[in-house]
Amino acid sequence: METLQQRMKVIEEEIQAACTRSGRKRNDITVIAVTKQVSVERTQEVIKAGIDNLGENRPEGLLGKQEEITLDTINWHFIGNVQSRKVKDIIDKVDFLHSLDRITIAKEIQKRAASTIDCFLQVNVSGEESKSGIQPEELKGFLRELSEFDKIRVIGLMTMAPFTEDEDLIRSVFRSLRVLRDQIAALNLINAPCTELSMGMSNDYTIAIEEGATHIRIGTALVGLESEGDG
Ligand SMILES: *Cc1c(COP(=O)(O)O)cnc(C)c1O
Repeated sequence: METLQQRMKVIEEEIQAACTRSGRKRNDITVIAVTKQVSVERTQEVIKAGIDNLGENRPEGLLGKQEEITLDTINWHFIGNVQSRKVKDIIDKVDFLHSLDRITIAKEIQKRAASTIDCFLQVNVSGEESKSGIQPEELKGFLRELSEFDKIRVIGLMTMAPFTEDEDLIRSVFRSLRVLRDQIAALNLINAPCTELSMGMSNDYTIAIEEGATHIRIGTALVGLESEGDG
């Protein structure tokens, strides 16, 4: 059975290869280990193996992990949908919010956050109805509204590709997000430097890197599934 170290080695090689193919630097890519499906113990193994960016998608998961893991070297990424009334529970405990996609959440952050939060705007590039995220054509209006909120700094865009084997479709979604990112960055908005791209998961992170991802969010391929019981 594969160990965590073996999985990490494979992923690291894949990342390096994707960087080489696309002329990118390894250092420009942050690997976020998505630990939402594994225990605190498994998460601690991941940290020991050298990962210091962790992603959780539910407030309970984040707070539960943080109770046990108090290292101040960890960057905590909140990658899931958050309800307005839960914003206050998590907002001062995350270093990055990847899922900002509506004004009600922005208002709540403005009201509750102690300091400015680095956020990614989640964009529904693929247009699937099941997916959350802002529609691409609504991005500029949303950014205009956000300019009043000094607690929010838009550092980039985030998306989830469709669940499909069609690599060309996945690639086109990532490429579209990059174009949107470049358009926003060119606006030179004080509150939205928008230099980052959070895209790519277990099945599609190499494509995401080739298309410019700066943050990849890897769950199962890296941390495994708790039920498999390996280390
Ligand atoms: C769960 C999750 C991931 C990781 O998914 P894997 O396919 O397990 O790599 C990445 N991003 C988001 C938003 C998620 O909810």
